[in-house]
Amino acid sequence: MLFQRLYPYGVFRVPCPDKNRRTVYLTFDDGVIPEVTPKVLEILKKYGVKATFFMVGENVDKYPEIYRQVIADGHSVGNHTYHHVKGFRMSKAAYLEEVKLCEEAFARHGSKSVEGGLTTRLMRPPYGRATICQRRALAKMGYTLYFWDVLTHDYNANYSPERMLSLIYRYTRNGSIINFHDSLKSNERMLATLPKAIEWLQAQGYTFNAL
Ligand SMILES: [Zn+2]
Repeated sequence: MLFQRLYPYGVFRVPCPDKNRRTVYLTFDDGVIPEVTPKVLEILKKYGVKATFFMVGENVDKYPEIYRQVIADGHSVGNHTYHHVKGFRMSKAAYLEEVKLCEEAFARHGSKSVEGGLTTRLMRPPYGRATICQRRALAKMGYTLYFWDVLTHDYNANYSPERMLSLIYRYTRNGSIINFHDSLKSNERMLATLPKAIEWLQAQGYTFNAL
């Protein structure tokens, strides 16, 4: 993919060696939020779907019980920095400190380290933006950077659920990473879209994996 070449150290779509098996990856950014995340968990449970949550460390510290519920439900968790910072605006050292703070929040609330001392190897830079230096340093620390190839625009009030669904119908393919937000801004649009998106994807024969 062009993006992959322009943007090393990042995964935009998961390579799928088995062409007969269609897999899709739902991702939710910016949680955990008490008004939103539990509703997402409910929907995912109802459909038997596993997903990935890229969390803001500050929110994990505020609502650790919801964080633990996400883990208990069998979903994957990824680092989205502690304060949801823009990589382009800060030094490499300050950016890595933000990532470390988020990682410490995961550890503080009960997540065990995997090999290499991190509780998760999944990372998504907020806004999808981090400098090449920052990305290289994160890769060195053991993170894989997961971006997306299907953006729902759920944070944008100009996008109705119908419009969001049409993007999913049009752009999803085998290995796609779909980007949603469990945030207050996306709340209603995202919750209205999610069940329909899952039903459509299931009807197309997709299985849902966590990253
Ligand atoms: Zn974000």
